[in-house]
Amino acid sequence: MAKKTVEDLDLKGKKVLVRVDFNVPIKDDVITNDNRIVAAIPTIDYITAEGGKAILFSHLGRVKTEEDKAGKSLKPVAERLSELLGKPVTFVPETRGKELEEAIANMKDGDVLVVENTRFEDIDGKKESKNDPELGKYWASLGDVFVNDAFGTAHRAHASNVGIASNLPTAVGYLMEKEIKFIGGVVENPQRPFVAILGGAKVSDKIGVIENLIDKADKILIGGGMTYTFQAAQGRKVGMSICEKDKLDLARELLEKAGDKLILPVDTVCAPDFDNDAPTTILTGDIPDDLEGLDIGPETIKLFTEELQGAKTVIWNGPMGVFELPTFAKGTIGVCEAIANLKDATTIIGGGDSAAAAIQLGFADEFTHISTGGGASLEYLEGKVLPGVESISDK
Ligand code: ADP
Ligand code: MG
Repeated sequence: MAKKTVEDLDLKGKKVLVRVDFNVPIKDDVITNDNRIVAAIPTIDYITAEGGKAILFSHLGRVKTEEDKAGKSLKPVAERLSELLGKPVTFVPETRGKELEEAIANMKDGDVLVVENTRFEDIDGKKESKNDPELGKYWASLGDVFVNDAFGTAHRAHASNVGIASNLPTAVGYLMEKEIKFIGGVVENPQRPFVAILGGAKVSDKIGVIENLIDKADKILIGGGMTYTFQAAQGRKVGMSICEKDKLDLARELLEKAGDKLILPVDTVCAPDFDNDAPTTILTGDIPDDLEGLDIGPETIKLFTEELQGAKTVIWNGPMGVFELPTFAKGTIGVCEAIANLKDATTIIGGGDSAAAAIQLGFADEFTHISTGGGASLEYLEGKVLPGVESISDK
C-alpha cells in the first residue's frame, strides 16, 4: 500500500518534525562527505516553500557514554546545511527542554531548525534507541505533523521515527518515497523477467535475502565471496577463498531449492594473496590450496551478461569481487556495464558496499535506483516489514 507523502500534508504555518539522515562522516569537526545532507534538501525545500517550519531530527554515530558525545554534535551539520540552503539554520545544542521549546516557539514560517543528535538521549537508558514512549511523546509535542525521510534507520524502531510517528499525523519524504517505490514495489510485484544478482563477502550475511529472492526472482546470479561456500557445498576445492564451513548444509539446501534458477560463476580470478599487485590466474575448476578466488572471471562476466538480456527488473546486492582493488574490480565493472546496456529495465542496486562500488566505479547514473540504506536496504530485500515505513499512514 502506498504511504502518504509530504505532498499529502497541509504544511502552511505548521511545525513539521522531520526525521532526516544526517549521519555523515566527520573528522576533526570537518564533514568529509556531505551526500546525506544534500540528499535531504528536496524534502526540506518543499516543506519551507509550502510555509512550514522544518524541525529536523537525526542521529550521528553511536553514543553510549558522556565521553562519546565528543565529535558527535550535529552543529557542523547544521552549518553545512545552512550553506547548502543559502539561508540561516538554527541549531539547538539540546534534545529537550526550555532552550529547544523557546527556539521552536520563535520560528517563523519557512524557517529551519536542527535539534542536537537524538542519540544523546541514549546515555541515560537508551531512550532513543529503545523507543522510550515518553521521549517519542515529548518530541511529538513539539510539532504538528511528522515526516520521515530517513531510510537508513527505517529498519529500527527508535523514538525519533516510530515514537514520534505514533503520536502525530505522518507522511514520508521524497527519499523514503523512492526507496518504498523501488525496493518495496519490486519485492512485492516485480516486472518479469526478474533477475537478482547476489555477491559480497559472506553467505551468512545474506541468507535472508537469498531465501526471499529464491521465491521471487526468475534467476539468481551468484558472485563475490559467497560463491565459494556454494562451490564447496558442491564438493569443489576452493583453496584459501573465503568459505563458511558451517554454512555448507545451508548452501546445499539453497542450491536444491533454487534448482536451475541459481547460476554460479564458471571461472574465477585467483591470486596467492589479497594484493593488487599479486600475480593472477584464471581457473575454471578446483582452486589449489595456495590460491584464493577474488573476482569472477571473464567467462562468467559473459555468462552473466547473457543471463541479464531481456530482464525487466534487476536487483543487485553484493560486489562480484574485491572491487576495492582495481585488479579484482573487473567482474563488478563488467556487471555494471551489462546493466547499463539494458533497455527498458528497472535496475536497483542496494547495500552499503554495493552502492559505494557503483558510485566509485563511475556507474551512479546507470541505475534506476541506488539504495544507500545499508542494513535497511538488506532487510527490505529480505521482505521484512520496516518499522520506520510501517509507522507512516497509508494514502
Ligand atoms: P553490501 O555492503 O553491499 O551488502 P557486502 O558487505 O556483503 O556488500 O560485501 C562487500 C565486500 O565483499 C567488499 O568489501 C568486497 O571486497 C568483498 N568481497 C567480494 N568478493 C570477495 C571475494 N571473492 N573474497 C573476499 N571478499 C570479497
Ligand atoms: Mg557491507
